[in-house]
Amino acid sequence: MSIQIVIEKCSGCTLCVKACPFGAIAIVDKKAAIDLKACNLCGACVPACKLNAILLERPEERAKKLDLEDYRDVWVFAEQKKGKVQPVVFELLARARQLAEKLNPVRNTGDFDVDSKISNGINTRVAALLLGNKLNGEIQNLIWQGADKVYVVEDERLANFQDEPYTNVLVELIKKYKPQIMLAGATSIGRSLISRVAVKIHTGLTADCTGLDIDPEKKILLQTRPAFGGNIMATIITPNHFPQMATVRHKVFPANAPDEKRKGEIIYEHFDDRVLLSRAKLLDIVEELQSTVNLTEADTIVSGGRGVGGKENFKILEELAKVLNAAVGASRAAVDSGWIPYSHQVGQTGRTVCPKIYIACGISGQIQHLVGMQSSKIIVAINKDPDAPIFKVATYGIVGDLFQIVPALTRRFKEVLNPSTEATKIKR
Ligand code: FAD
Repeated sequence: MSIQIVIEKCSGCTLCVKACPFGAIAIVDKKAAIDLKACNLCGACVPACKLNAILLERPEERAKKLDLEDYRDVWVFAEQKKGKVQPVVFELLARARQLAEKLNPVRNTGDFDVDSKISNGINTRVAALLLGNKLNGEIQNLIWQGADKVYVVEDERLANFQDEPYTNVLVELIKKYKPQIMLAGATSIGRSLISRVAVKIHTGLTADCTGLDIDPEKKILLQTRPAFGGNIMATIITPNHFPQMATVRHKVFPANAPDEKRKGEIIYEHFDDRVLLSRAKLLDIVEELQSTVNLTEADTIVSGGRGVGGKENFKILEELAKVLNAAVGASRAAVDSGWIPYSHQVGQTGRTVCPKIYIACGISGQIQHLVGMQSSKIIVAINKDPDAPIFKVATYGIVGDLFQIVPALTRRFKEVLNPSTEATKIKR
């Protein structure tokens, strides 16, 4: 790889200096000069130069580019634990279907006629990758939830996740079938596995995405995630290396309802010891202690922020949560103040949630909080500041003092949801 300035063309305009994120270009004697020690050949300066005076040569990438045409299909790693596919996989299959439709030159009608898709060779298909042992129960489920194909690798050595054999199997399958996009949940298994695979096959990986889309012109994956401490949402692309790989948080995308009419192809693959052996030995699996709050699975969440004003005041939120059979969430400000444990924190550095109803009390709605809850189906915001950003994402907004509104809601919900108790009270 090399980069050079074509001195005859350079006008010393400084556009490349401004474009270089590494401060590697300076104007010397009215011409651009590149400090090759500081330059990392990112190429940001090339499009900035209006006179085509910067030559960047990446022979390796050019060779690879020729092969990119061979890459097709959107793959989802079907993470399983004890033979049960994890919920994030179904969310990814639903999103993978939408991505595949956007990639297809011919609209994917969803009639799932796999054979015709194979024969016309045009359509992008969605495939799930299921590794484990005795997996029969889940294969069909993956098809019902959106997979056109399921690649199954069964071996007792794959029953539980282990980095080495799982990585080797994925690398072999990717080399053989060449997927265009590879997605996995941003779980501890997904993060550990996919980063290893990305390194082995020399491609890029965007971890912990909160958004995925397809560039309508270039037909490449747009991978969005918080960056620079959550101060910006960055959209990252992997234009020159395939597959384009991303891990995605649980609850960012909704899953589709299973469609038992869907048909798909099941492909069994087998590997020998060379691929399946692990240098690490799995001695035991210790079950995670069940957290007292299961925020991520709750249908309703009542969440409090700095506006709640103190630890003792969380009681009024807990009362509302009890009536609604809801979990209690919190902003980081409330957690950092020591009013409620970290396990309740919603947001970029807390949990990502997608309940049917999210009630935000005294939460301003900073981006780091929103990324963790904005895909909730109904958002109710209670805030005394009518300009609070939370109202921009709220389905229903109540401008006022939460200390009046929350107890009033609790009273009213008690009456509506539990009328017999009220009637009993009145009788007494
Ligand atoms: P504030 O922004 O102070 O808002 C309090 C709100 O309460 C105000 O809108 C006010 O009008 C309202 N209010 C006050 N009194 C009342 C009342 N009596 N009745 C009604 N309304 C009232 N934040 C998260 O939440 N989760 C994260 O995971 C997270 N991760 C972060 C990661 C990084 C790297 C960084 C830099 C920040 C992160 N943050 C996170 C912090 C985030 O930027 C905000 O500081 C935080 O969300 C603010 O919390 P808040 O809305 O409770 O507090």
